[in-house]
Amino acid sequence: MAKIIDGKAISAEIRSEIKEQLKKLDKKPGLAVIIVGNDPASKVYVRNKRLACEETGIYSEIYELPEETTQKELTELITVLNGCENIHGILVQLPLPKHIDAESVIMTISPNKDVDAFHHENVGRIMTGAPRFLPCTPAGVMELLARSGITVEGKECVIIGRSNIVGKPQAMLMLAANGTVTVCHSKTHNLAEVCRRADILVSAVGKAKFVTADMIKEGAVVIDVGMNRDENGKLCGDVDFKSVEPKASYITPVPGGVGPMTITMLLKNTVAAFEQSK
Ligand code: NAP
Repeated sequence: MAKIIDGKAISAEIRSEIKEQLKKLDKKPGLAVIIVGNDPASKVYVRNKRLACEETGIYSEIYELPEETTQKELTELITVLNGCENIHGILVQLPLPKHIDAESVIMTISPNKDVDAFHHENVGRIMTGAPRFLPCTPAGVMELLARSGITVEGKECVIIGRSNIVGKPQAMLMLAANGTVTVCHSKTHNLAEVCRRADILVSAVGKAKFVTADMIKEGAVVIDVGMNRDENGKLCGDVDFKSVEPKASYITPVPGGVGPMTITMLLKNTVAAFEQSK
């Protein structure tokens, strides 16, 4: 039987640490969140970010812009926020409507306020081992491991997925922690065989029940980043939990594993941006 890594409890622990830290300050860190359009999932994410700020004592401003907002209007708002003294972090909720070039919008955010760590300068800093901010979801995975007493150093770490927001930065953080890292993707040959090498397996694919028991080494740590819907519309991860759990030593559930950590790491980055602005 695997130990369940409780992301909700670990996330609550970190949020209470942030709350305590902020009580001692005379000024509050500030986060601006911009959402364009009416995507229902994005609206829920933005609401959760606002609530997380309220819970911890971070000042927040939410900008809800209509679908027809132009790129120019959006970048003008970001430019204003770049200059705002009470705003230390700026986040543009993705995806953006199709007529807006998300990449160039993100490049408009001041790297000092880019708390998602998506600006090329911040990506480069992560790559060279001198991060200003840690990428939220992969950093959440590292916290889950650390707070569960799992060391990465010297371990075979296999990551399935190479996206810019999860797989690639996850590889950089595990490498920085002295793991031996393999990154798999849709063109990987013998995926199950590669995954069976893993002491720590991180799945970020986006397909329900993708990771099955035959892909797991006995006693492996299994981290499930996936957020999918099963055949009944229920939230689930990439890992076939029922068959994998008995073989793993530790496993994250979905919901309640990596998910709660992402916003918490965003809060940490906002506090870091505030500290760095002094
Ligand atoms: P993505 O951009 O779609 O990337 C998926 C990756 O999976 C790609 O690199 C793709 O390979 C790889 N892949 C697809 N099919 C594969 C196969 N058959 N074998 C091996 N690799 C395969 O997705 P993402 O943005 O990284 O997100 C991944 C999942 O994590 C999604 O479910 C997403 O909702 C979830 N997520 C959760 C959080 C959270 O807070 N918990 C945050 C972000 C994302 P190619 O590159 O070759 O196409």
